[in-house]
Amino acid sequence: MWKKILSALLCALSVQAERFERVEPHMGTLVRITIYARDDSAIQFAFARIAELDRELSDYKADSELNIVCRTAHDHPVRVSKDLYRVLEAAQRLAEQSEGAFDVTIGPVTHLWRQGKLPDRKTIARVGWRNLVLSRGSVYLKIPGMQLDLGGIAKGFAADEALEVLKKRGVTRALVVVSGDIAMGDAPPDKKGWSIRVEPGGQELVLKNAAVSTSGDTEQFLETGGIRYSHIIDPKTGLGLTSRIAVTVVARRGLEADPLATALSVMGETRGRAMLARHYPGATASFTPSPLIAQ
Ligand code: ADP
Ligand code: MG
Repeated sequence: MWKKILSALLCALSVQAERFERVEPHMGTLVRITIYARDDSAIQFAFARIAELDRELSDYKADSELNIVCRTAHDHPVRVSKDLYRVLEAAQRLAEQSEGAFDVTIGPVTHLWRQGKLPDRKTIARVGWRNLVLSRGSVYLKIPGMQLDLGGIAKGFAADEALEVLKKRGVTRALVVVSGDIAMGDAPPDKKGWSIRVEPGGQELVLKNAAVSTSGDTEQFLETGGIRYSHIIDPKTGLGLTSRIAVTVVARRGLEADPLATALSVMGETRGRAMLARHYPGATASFTPSPLIAQ
């Protein structure tokens, strides 16, 4: 009897965790999941969770929960999913902490930006985080024509949630990369952490149980009248940033790191660091000149 148990234990221990890596398109980008486990069966569930969040949080998909809410929640408060509520609560907390630098009601402006247009006064008047009211699981939009855009926060949350799914299935050594938003669990076997290089030629970070997000305009920008506007908008002016900066934030979760990177890009280094020290003492940020523009 004891012999049998002992040999079963030895057998279990001898099954080494292998490295598995899968890439799938989600949220308008490629998502990469790396795990150390006995097999790769947990990964499909993590991708399924990301797909579910995309259906809830996307402002590109006309029939996403977010867009349905935007069409209906100005008549009366609308009850929303737990996921959407959680993300909106986090967004509103940061809107307040950042004095409006992070603002998910920026949608009317970003939608014009995507068509290569700068906003007029009427469009800017539909923006303002104080016009988004959250109460007991419901969302109310004070002004008709408001549009929520979770592009600065949803990917970080999706990375967190993918990690959660893996953990529930017994996989704790995992890395989830959703474009510039990365979340990781325990370190790979025999390593101190996951080795992350945020930008080509940039410094190497070795991290575990943390999240890293980068915001910048290296890939997405709009050029008009000889001026280059980033896809990150300063809600005060309604214009894309013209300062050439990339911000990387390390925090405990993607739900913090992702919107913080966007907020700090708008706030700039001095104001940004002060806000971070006050509200996120555990988080760190680096501000670097945007590599593409510096050429
Ligand atoms: P990326 O999409 O490259 O990861 P970010 O996380 O910084 O970069 O998100 C930028 C996106 O966030 C924009 O494409 C837009 O959808 C949205 N956004 C732009 N400006 C703001 C802002 N001031 N506050 C909140 N969201 C914003
Ligand atoms: Mg962001």
